[in-house]
Amino acid sequence: MLNELELTGRARTHVVQHDAPRFAAQPEAVAAFLALREAARRDGIDLVPYSSFRDFRTQLRIWNGKFSGSKPLYDEQGRPRDFSRLTPPEIVRHILNWSALPGASRHQWGTEIDVFDGAAVPVDYVPKLLPEEVAPGGVFFELHRWLDAHIGTYGFVRPYRRFNGGMFPEPWHLSYRPLSTLALQQVTVDLLARVIAEADILGKALVLEMLPEIHRDHILNVDVD
Ligand SMILES: [Zn+2]
Repeated sequence: MLNELELTGRARTHVVQHDAPRFAAQPEAVAAFLALREAARRDGIDLVPYSSFRDFRTQLRIWNGKFSGSKPLYDEQGRPRDFSRLTPPEIVRHILNWSALPGASRHQWGTEIDVFDGAAVPVDYVPKLLPEEVAPGGVFFELHRWLDAHIGTYGFVRPYRRFNGGMFPEPWHLSYRPLSTLALQQVTVDLLARVIAEADILGKALVLEMLPEIHRDHILNVDVD
């Protein structure tokens, strides 16, 4: 079981850093991912961990950049939104379509890995992590067909498989279910309220007010079966 600092990304004592490929996760999730990666390799796929453990400060920097309008907000297709027309609650909801609330990101748990297929693209390709890459004809369409068939065997699920009114679909986001299911149970409105109250976060009063909605629509609202 993670302690509160680990669960909210304010410590990294629960994760280990793996080199080649470089990513960080809890030891059991590292082993499971490497087994999945080896199975993929046998089928000609280079399963690359693009993003894995992310700490609270990184998530906070993303949040504050988006809340202030210095980083763009995107719609479901990855097109920038017109920031000037949005009310503060709309800004919060639009941030949460693509980015987690600091303290509530699943990437803090050391159980989540965003992936792409390095064998399907040139070495200098920078993944966009957008639906177009995964759709039929997209560079990672075949990867995702392979993942459909194999991730369950290795304990992984896709929590953002489809739009349920919270996060937009992120099929590239894999979650190591045996550990992430436990972590999800530990994330409560009360815990998040304490973390947000202490944080240097833009929109703090509004976020605190919206926490029950955020917890319901953006944290519990995932596909983990
Ligand atoms: Zn992710």
